[in-house]
Amino acid sequence: MATKNLELKLYDTLTREKRVFNPIDPARVRMYVCGPTVYDFAHIGNARPVIVFDVLYRLLRHLYPGEGRVIYVRNITDVDDKINARAAERGVSIRELTEETYNNFKSDVAALGCLPPTVEPRATDYVSNPGAPVDMIRLIERLIANGHAYAAEGHVLFSVATMSDYGKLSKRSLDEMVAGARVEVAPYKRDPMDFVLWKPSSLDLPGWDSPWGRGRPGWHIECSAMSAALLGETFDIHGGGIDLVFPHHENEIAQSRCAFHTGVMANYWMHNGFLQVEGEKMSKSLGNFVTIRELISTSKFGDKSWSPEALRLAMLRTHYRQPIDWTVRSLEEAEQTLERWADLVGDVKSGKVAVEVLGILADDLNTPLAITELLRLGKAGDAADLAATLKFLGFDLGKGSSYKSPRRKAIERAFQKVDLKEKVEALIESRNSARKAKNFKESDRIRDELAAMGVVLKDSKEGTTWEIAR
Ligand code: AMP
Ligand code: ZN
Repeated sequence: MATKNLELKLYDTLTREKRVFNPIDPARVRMYVCGPTVYDFAHIGNARPVIVFDVLYRLLRHLYPGEGRVIYVRNITDVDDKINARAAERGVSIRELTEETYNNFKSDVAALGCLPPTVEPRATDYVSNPGAPVDMIRLIERLIANGHAYAAEGHVLFSVATMSDYGKLSKRSLDEMVAGARVEVAPYKRDPMDFVLWKPSSLDLPGWDSPWGRGRPGWHIECSAMSAALLGETFDIHGGGIDLVFPHHENEIAQSRCAFHTGVMANYWMHNGFLQVEGEKMSKSLGNFVTIRELISTSKFGDKSWSPEALRLAMLRTHYRQPIDWTVRSLEEAEQTLERWADLVGDVKSGKVAVEVLGILADDLNTPLAITELLRLGKAGDAADLAATLKFLGFDLGKGSSYKSPRRKAIERAFQKVDLKEKVEALIESRNSARKAKNFKESDRIRDELAAMGVVLKDSKEGTTWEIAR
């Protein structure tokens, strides 16, 4: 099989180079990606790491085929101060809020063509989890025992000074780190750089009993505990958005390496670039904040809602490490391409994933070049391989798939109006009479009129049925 010889190369943020990917254990390829904090709908920036690492997951599954060979863990942060505040604001329980938000997230990213990860652990299940090889409380205890953390006033802090190569991932000087982290000076800290592993909770906040009193974990310790519990002390790939390099990933590395005395936490650190909207940072105050849900449903953009496939394609037209400038124009272009592909793919069945595309993706996920190659396949009229390759990349456009082009959606909306339906049926009736009278000129004219309305007729022995054109 040609793909067996494919050499996967990935850019590693830690070593600042593109390296050949060699898994620690080819029978268990392990990837961890930082997932969402579930307090509100995910925005289109949050969709980027989900889509990017979905493509990598698909490629890894192709390169390492076989049930359970690639283990993809994407966590859910369901304990966080933003969650507490939002639940209080809405007057719902924290569990209700995180459950609802998580379900929305799941259905949004499924619509975007992303496969579910192998495991989606919830942080709250790993604060204390006697069934797991490690949990947050035990990890913190280890860090205290080997001198890398200290307890003070109900808090536990990681002592940055105890790690000689702290800061290796972000390559920042200590001064820059102090500024970047907006470090909090607190009386219980030995050094302003020290970060929180555990903090006290009042009774109205979520809390767990611990050796340091009732409290809750800091954010960074979650990922160290969940990755170690599910993937081991050292694993292959760790991913997330570029904003997580510092302090989140730097601190994950500090915790995991100091707890387990390992040289690395993960062998490849991958980070997607940021998404901006029409040249500006996306933010609620700028009014350019777009959730996945808004983009793919009709509510915000009126008639102009976009297919989730267009969002996925527009996203993949930029290399994952580059920043994306998100524009309506890029969505329009993606939608036009998809319509063309959907027409080409139609109801073709078999086909194979194009080797050229696999080779391009194996070079640090060069999705823009892969899309160029797909366009070439389409132009060459190679519908079967185009369909298979699109499917491999998470685009199911064939007949019977859920893909709906804006053209088809507009027609469907029009047909929801009963009078149009009646008009079509009346036209079909007149056409049938014309055919009976052998007036084929008239029956063809009516068929063309219906076609112009987006209606395709199917004549059979049983009579005439109709459907909306694709
Ligand atoms: P959060 O819920 O804020 O922790 O973010 C979840 C994931 O989305 C993280 O991997 C972030 O790095 C990523 N992310 C957040 N905003 C953006 C953005 N505008 N562009 C790309 N990735 C983002
Ligand atoms: Zn994380």
